[in-house]
Amino acid sequence: MQNLYDVIIIGGGPAGVGAAVESSILGIKNILLIEKGDNHSQTIRKFYKDNKRVDKDYKGQEINLEGNIQFIDGSKESTIDYFDKLLDQEKIDTAFNNEVESIEKANDVFRVSTSKTGYLAKIIIVAIGRMGRPNKPDYKIPLSITDKVNFNLDKCSQGESILVVGGGNSAAEYAIGLSNSNKIILNYRKEKFTRLNDINEKMIWDLQKTGKLSLALGVDIKGLESENGDVRVLFDNDTSLVVNRVVYAIGGTTPIDFLKKCGISLDEKGHPIFDENFETSVKNMYICGDVATTQGGSIALALNQAYKIITHAFKK
Ligand SMILES: Cc1cc2nc3c(=O)[nH]c(=O)nc-3n(C[C@H](O)[C@H](O)[C@H](O)COP(=O)(O)OP(=O)(O)OC[C@H]3O[C@@H](n4cnc5c(N)ncnc54)[C@H](O)[C@@H]3O)c2cc1C
Repeated sequence: MQNLYDVIIIGGGPAGVGAAVESSILGIKNILLIEKGDNHSQTIRKFYKDNKRVDKDYKGQEINLEGNIQFIDGSKESTIDYFDKLLDQEKIDTAFNNEVESIEKANDVFRVSTSKTGYLAKIIIVAIGRMGRPNKPDYKIPLSITDKVNFNLDKCSQGESILVVGGGNSAAEYAIGLSNSNKIILNYRKEKFTRLNDINEKMIWDLQKTGKLSLALGVDIKGLESENGDVRVLFDNDTSLVVNRVVYAIGGTTPIDFLKKCGISLDEKGHPIFDENFETSVKNMYICGDVATTQGGSIALALNQAYKIITHAFKK
């Protein structure tokens, strides 16, 4: 007989870690946290630059933490350490390197199929984030430079000239983080930044003033070419420049196919439908964190959602 978990949480980011830890604090014993990466918090590990500042009130959204997790301002490293500590303290069962492929429900029990095996659960929390599939540009990226054209900071190394593309906080934070050790140009197709939080916007302009970063605003990229192993970036104003690397931060999309496969109803824009307790159209299946947020997700917001879900799921 397979173990029947009280709750299985899919995705080990802040939302998933929060849900697992809050369940344990509430006294639930049979909890499993499934994560496709080799450890929890893949978005933080892969998309945050080393030593990045992590703000609790991210993008200026002031959030009062409602649950038991005392998340505070810190760095990429202190945030990961804190989540490590919480998972250890609560002795949460984890299944890493395990990508959930589908979830089916029969007789009030969920069967979760992963890349490795299958599990059974009474309650499911889908906390898969939005970063799984970053948006890609429409033009073709020549094969010879695919390793020089990235969607996170994994491959960047010191001293490279890097064009960061995007006008949101992720692009700004990539550019700020890299500007210490690299020649950075931040490219946004619009003339002005409209989506940056005050801190990021101030830092970008300060770095530009002191020559630590250049801006290419109001100009769009129409294509990329290979030039002696570097990248020639072709702009729509008929100028071009050569850089060692291009990093795109142009958003990510909700993993619609996965949600559909789980049987979760979506609205006409493809956003998942859920009630005030984050319960989806499938009873006892909840959705938590960035995947449930159409804009402006944050760690604190994900932790509050997790607390609300657990309180509802086990006390109703
Ligand atoms: C560059 C950058 C800087 C940021 N800075 C801050 C900040 O300073 N402060 C702040 O509060 N927020 C910040 N954010 C936002 C914050 O990171 C997100 O709001 C938060 O990570 C959302 O948590 P989540 O658990 O919903 O999703 P994620 O953190 O994206 O976690 C989802 C997890 O699910 C896993 N997963 C996905 N699909 C599957 C599957 N099928 N099976 C198993 N596992 C799966 C992923 O590998 C991942 O580990 C920043 C974001 C970025 C990109």
